[in-house]
Amino acid sequence: MPKYIFITGGVVSSLGKGIASASIGKMIEAKGLKVAMQKLDPYINVDPGTMNPYQHGEVYVTEDGAETDLDLGHYERFTASSIGRLNNVTTGQLYYSVIAKERRGDYLGATVQVVPHITDEITERIREVSKGRRVDVVIVEVGGTVGDIESLPFLEAIRQFRLEVGRDNVINIHLTLVPFIRAAGELKTKPTQHSVGRLREIGIQPDILLCRTEKKLAKGLKDKIALFCNVESDAVIEARDVQTIYEVPLIFQEQGLDKVICRFLRLDYKVGSLSEWKKNVVEVSLHPKHMIRIAVVGKYIELQDAYKSIYEALKHGGIANNAGVIFKKIDAEKLEHGRPEKFLKDCDGVLVPGGFGTRGVEGKIKAIQYCRENRVPYFGICLGMQCAVIEFARNILGMKGANSTEFNKKTSYPVISLLEEQQNVTQMGGTMRLGAYPCILKKGANAAKAYRAEKVSERHRHRYEFNNKFQDLFEKAGMKVTGVYPQGDLVEIVEIEDHPWFLAVQFHPEFSSKPDQAHPLFREFIRSALSYRDHRLEGAVLPEAGAEALRPVSEIEVA
Ligand code: GLN
Repeated sequence: MPKYIFITGGVVSSLGKGIASASIGKMIEAKGLKVAMQKLDPYINVDPGTMNPYQHGEVYVTEDGAETDLDLGHYERFTASSIGRLNNVTTGQLYYSVIAKERRGDYLGATVQVVPHITDEITERIREVSKGRRVDVVIVEVGGTVGDIESLPFLEAIRQFRLEVGRDNVINIHLTLVPFIRAAGELKTKPTQHSVGRLREIGIQPDILLCRTEKKLAKGLKDKIALFCNVESDAVIEARDVQTIYEVPLIFQEQGLDKVICRFLRLDYKVGSLSEWKKNVVEVSLHPKHMIRIAVVGKYIELQDAYKSIYEALKHGGIANNAGVIFKKIDAEKLEHGRPEKFLKDCDGVLVPGGFGTRGVEGKIKAIQYCRENRVPYFGICLGMQCAVIEFARNILGMKGANSTEFNKKTSYPVISLLEEQQNVTQMGGTMRLGAYPCILKKGANAAKAYRAEKVSERHRHRYEFNNKFQDLFEKAGMKVTGVYPQGDLVEIVEIEDHPWFLAVQFHPEFSSKPDQAHPLFREFIRSALSYRDHRLEGAVLPEAGAEALRPVSEIEVA
């Protein structure tokens, strides 16, 4: 039977519970143990697929086609655990299933209630993630903040779960905030005490506290927190702000968090080595040899979380090339009115990510035209590919008004159109082309060269598709189809032949990139951006290059 770690959060949201959970997973895996990761989300939506990015940030797609919380992306990037549909449970899913059982008559006349029916459904889902597989430790992150009405059933369920599986098999970790009050010049522990108090009221005594803080937590303060919160003093762990999230597992391990976890869970303690991770990921991120600037042209640019996996995958591509990436985040709508060179001339590569709806599309198309004409490396993802096709149709093939039928149903040149299987879809939730599909690569093209393979599998999330009626015209004019989905003859990758790197994909490679194993397309995109940078800076006054090299990793600029 596996051991269980439950992670809750207190005081405020956005403390980085997902990264903390993923980091604990990484640290435990380094000991040769197998972990499974799960996120419990208290909202009533069945999944985040129909939520606006302003509400939810990125929708992370798993191989098996589930639309999930972006924390699952952290789990996949940090750990080797397999992530799919079972790894994200929402209140919506629980009620959906309980109500279906009730309608079937499964409850035999009982009054259906939050306790025990919803709570039993929760514990069943927790058990399910490790069913039929060898898993040593299951790590479950409870979404929301302690004290929220919505998370109560989850907390009640994990309280009961510990009784069911035995005290030595479960620990509770609580992530809290120790704020620095400038006027007093002090770190304050009271919010942590209150948050732990709230947890105890519902019967959960945390075993370990992870304290988010801007300043160092002195020994005296840790002892104070330990005493007031009733935890052992080596179980108060400082989680200070770091320069790169990939440092977090190292920081936890340095403070002996792994030892404490093993002690509480009665697991034999083995030293786990994170030295490869430290050398290949953290050190390169902190002290890269080169710096490059990549423009991301999107419509949710002001939101940190909307393109989470894209930014991470770009960083991974950077790591693979010993380069730090400065993101220039460009609001596509602004490009609609301005000259693209004003925004893009200091960039070494441009990426247009996925998206839905018309807003900003014309700006994205302008950015793509600039890249095509000026031989700037371009990487289009999903909508970013569709826009590249539209741009080419309008400006090279002379198809005036060419468009996707998503944006103009009556266009005379529907170069992107609805998939046949999508024509009669009326329900919006979970009905896109979702999850991993195979893709056959064309020999000799940049995509095949990057992957060093003939066939790959990539994840999708879209309804619209390249319209095969036009394929010949595109091919003849120089936009080549270099990846296809074999069964349905669907276009998955296009490239412009006569361009150093102009590649656009219908799928989402960003979801499967890892810091120590950059996705091949991101790695090669950054590589070509680096050569473009040398060319761009040729003859430029050297101090610019020097100044760039001194900048910290993954800096963000907003245009
Ligand atoms: N809106 C487009 C479609 O549905 C692109 C989707 C995306 O970029 N994820 O096909």
